[in-house]
Amino acid sequence: MKSYNEPHLSKNGPDGHGMSWIQRFFKAIFPTSWGESMETDSRAWKLRCNGCSFEQSFWHMGGIRWKAYGNQSNYMKCKSCGERSWHQAYKKEHDGV
Ligand SMILES: [Zn+2]
Repeated sequence: MKSYNEPHLSKNGPDGHGMSWIQRFFKAIFPTSWGESMETDSRAWKLRCNGCSFEQSFWHMGGIRWKAYGNQSNYMKCKSCGERSWHQAYKKEHDGV
């Protein structure tokens, strides 16, 4: 029963520098313009809990979602309500930037 398609998120989330190791890793290996594009995309992609409607960006969770399209559901533990439930991934184009 380990067939859930969970996003690749850091277990610890962003560290003191505001980025998770995976975010810093990709920023380090990509040219600056790619890194900015990656961050913008990851911030635009949100995951919303079906249980409590709590919403968080992939970037905020220490993850990356880049050049992705289509809405996807992930079965994962919610940071807000603490329950394992379906989280809807969707892209929010203009997020108060
Ligand atoms: Zn929740």
